Parts: sequence; C-alpha cells; structure tokens
Amino acid sequence: MVTRRTVVAGMAGLPFVGLAANLVGQAQAQELAMADTITTSEGDLVIRPVDHASLVLEWGGKVIYVDPVGGAARYEGLPAPTAILITHGHGDHFDVPTLEAIAGSVPLVANEDVLGKLPGALQANATALVNGDSGEIDGVPLKAIAAHNTTADRMNYHPVGVGNGYILTFGDKQVYVAGDTEPTEDMLGLTDIAVAFLPMNLPYTMTPDQAVEAINVFKPGIVYPYHYGDSDLSVLEAGVGEHTEVRLRDWYPNGQG
Ligand code: ZN
Ligand code: ZN
Repeated sequence: MVTRRTVVAGMAGLPFVGLAANLVGQAQAQELAMADTITTSEGDLVIRPVDHASLVLEWGGKVIYVDPVGGAARYEGLPAPTAILITHGHGDHFDVPTLEAIAGSVPLVANEDVLGKLPGALQANATALVNGDSGEIDGVPLKAIAAHNTTADRMNYHPVGVGNGYILTFGDKQVYVAGDTEPTEDMLGLTDIAVAFLPMNLPYTMTPDQAVEAINVFKPGIVYPYHYGDSDLSVLEAGVGEHTEVRLRDWYPNGQG
C-alpha cells in the first residue's frame, strides 16, 4: 500500500495520472475490502481480518498485530506493527519465524508459555499476562481473560490457566479477542463489549451453537466469527438476538479451513 501510494505521488505530473490513480484506487479497494471501521471516542478503530486467528487493529497511529503467523508476506501492504499481542503458543497463533521477520523491536504481550518460548531478542521486548491480569499494550489498556476448553474430551487442547483472551480498550470501546476457548465464566460475565472475536471450530474451540448461546448472554455489540475453519456458521444468523450484529468476513483468503 505504501509503495503504491508513493507511485501515485510520483506520477502526479504525468498526463495519465487520472487513469493511473483510478487503477491504483481499484487495486487498493480490493486489497482493503476486508477492513472495517469502528468509531470510538478517540478516533476510528480499523479492523483488518488477516487469516484464521490473525488480525490487525489500527487506532490512533498504533498498529497492533494479534496472533501473527504465516510469514511476512501475509502482511505485505499493511502498516508495520507498533505492538504484537499473542494469545497462546499453538502454531496457528504463534510462529517465531514470522515474529522474527516482522516484529523488529516493538513490544510483545503474550501468555507465560509463549514468553518462555521466545528467542532472547524478542523476549527482551515481551511481557506476559496471566488470566485476570491487567496491563497495557502500546498504551492501550489490556486485560487478560481466561481462554480454555470446558468440555471434558476437549480439555487437552486448551487446559485451564494457559491461554489468554484479551480485552483492549480503545477510547470508549472495548474489543474482546477471545483466543482459543469455549464459553467460560469469564466470557459470560463480560459486559459492555463493543466488538468480540469468537472462535468456533471443533475439536479445538466451541461449536457455532455454543457461540450463539454465549453471544446471547454477554451481548457484544458486534461479533466477528473467526477461527472457524469449515464450520457451518448459518446458525448464527438465525440464533443471535438483535442486540448483536454478526459480521461474517472471509478469514481464509488463502483457502485454508
Ligand atoms: Zn489453540
Ligand atoms: Zn487456534
């Protein structure tokens, strides 16, 4: 994106600038079609789904990458991170080569398991939060929320007390990134969540039906199903109450899932 904007500026004096700008504009629109904007009391929050559990949150000049994996190429065209947030150590959320390629010296916030697995150069910039902790990332207030399975035969995937979900506070809006979890007491007790990212794939997280039940309890303003693999999400449309807008986005632009 930055490169293309530079090209447009460089062409400003050329007679075909109108055509060129139009073509570039179309390309940008396609690449950025996934971005959503949420109004907050302190400026717009831009949400960019990237892939599966990876997303980017931009607000007030801050660019927070959440669970970046898949290599640096996946992030080409997006602004560089000013901070990185990691929920837990599974490979679809945490990838050292990707971090080494994109993190530079920005701060990282993770759970304790991930902190212990970071190479020294990244670890030096990292902080761990445990479930229930409050902290901050790049000046944004942050709270770690329990993220774990609750169904007996799924407990081995995400045991109690390891992974984090997070609530980030952007001005007057709270954004909840659930991580890999089933509905927990912590989740169901949340209030005043403007935007929630909820996973729904078996056997690792919850079913879409479990998600509907949870949404109708804690009533986020907007919910983004993510980390859904090939789950059938049609139940959300029918089951979620009017208190919550369900935003279906293409989280698998590369065809996985
Ligand atoms: Zn996981
Ligand atoms: Zn996962």
